[in-house]
Amino acid sequence: MNKKSLNDISVSNKKVFVRVDYNVPMDKAGNITDDTRIRATIPTLEFLLSKNAAVILASHLGRPKGKVAPEFSLKPVAEKLSQMIGREVKFAPDCVGAEASKMAAELQPGQILLLENLRFHAEEEKNDPEFAKQLAGLAEILVNDAFGVSHRAHASVHGITKYIPAVPGFLMDKELLFLGQAVTNPVRPFAAIIGGAKVSDKIGVIENLLNKVDTLIIGGGMANTFLAAQGYQFGKSLVEADKFDLAKQLLETAKAKGVNLLLPEDVVVADKFAADAERKTVPIDQIPAEWMALDIGPATAANYSAALNGMKTVVWNGPMGVFEFDAFAVGTEAVAKAVAASGAKSIVGGGDSVAALEKLNLAAQITHISTGGGASLEFLEGKELPGIAALADK
Ligand code: ADP
Ligand code: MG
Repeated sequence: MNKKSLNDISVSNKKVFVRVDYNVPMDKAGNITDDTRIRATIPTLEFLLSKNAAVILASHLGRPKGKVAPEFSLKPVAEKLSQMIGREVKFAPDCVGAEASKMAAELQPGQILLLENLRFHAEEEKNDPEFAKQLAGLAEILVNDAFGVSHRAHASVHGITKYIPAVPGFLMDKELLFLGQAVTNPVRPFAAIIGGAKVSDKIGVIENLLNKVDTLIIGGGMANTFLAAQGYQFGKSLVEADKFDLAKQLLETAKAKGVNLLLPEDVVVADKFAADAERKTVPIDQIPAEWMALDIGPATAANYSAALNGMKTVVWNGPMGVFEFDAFAVGTEAVAKAVAASGAKSIVGGGDSVAALEKLNLAAQITHISTGGGASLEFLEGKELPGIAALADK
């Protein structure tokens, strides 16, 4: 995968369509409560403006289901971006049609235009060729800085590239660099930490990473299934009994490939699924029948931390416990600190994993936090992402 970058093409005085991910959280009054996603695109925008490009921005926001829904308007984002970048940001009330075309045509070098929500049109998610052509008609080049939607063949990241050439923006470049290197050419030793609720969500990731890693650390609810498959009693814990055979197969594969696969030896159990549950630490062969495992235990956390020591690359997806409850975020915190302390190049992907790191104030210690939850998972599964495949090769 060797894609052209923004630096490889001429954007001077060109009309550039930039697909961004401005799917930002807003409160009921329409105030943006977290502008991280907007901020993350500013290097690409500043670069384009410095080259006198006319910048046409497009994004989705929320799930308007193909219909105009005022609560999902990007208008507040135009205002926010304008404040952040210190320039006027024009706003087109629709992403296609006569007015968008006129505004795009009249846009001057160094000016910015934000189009209304792409998903007000069902054609966006259907990758409708005519809709893609209309989007393409607004500009001469596509810059894709929306990694988080590039695992979907949508018109603004896929169909559009049939009509105009596409290159990654700087944010996308970073994703390709860090995730790409980790899965294709990692500096060793290479460890992956996989957690989260279910094995069934991560089968593809585990299968793919078993071909690549030296060490595979498993935590969270999915570890229950691996252990229960070997006969341990997990009481009322989340366990996927229909995945026992698969779990056993994965353990066999790990052994055959010489991967050091680590599972919990102790867990923190709770008497109910609640923040204020009564809790205790038990070895995995002493889980009370009426209790549930909601976090890895301290012996496990220490063992995992030791295993991370000396790693050069660490990929992490999925929290070690129910981090949403402070009492069960301890294992995730210990592992996050161990990742930071290891000095490895660390890459974290997954919506909840990133939320956990932010909650624990440890995000700054990670080398690369992927901006795409589903997209980073598919990347780690070794899949080709349609929006990335469509970018121009070097
Ligand atoms: P990501 O979004 O990072 O890919 P997942 O969505 O796979 O992560 O998993 C996150 C969820 O897993 C969290 O909501 C967390 O509460 C849950 N989880 C972690 N450990 C357990 C457990 N032992 N039992 C139940 N749920 C768990
Ligand atoms: Mg999740």
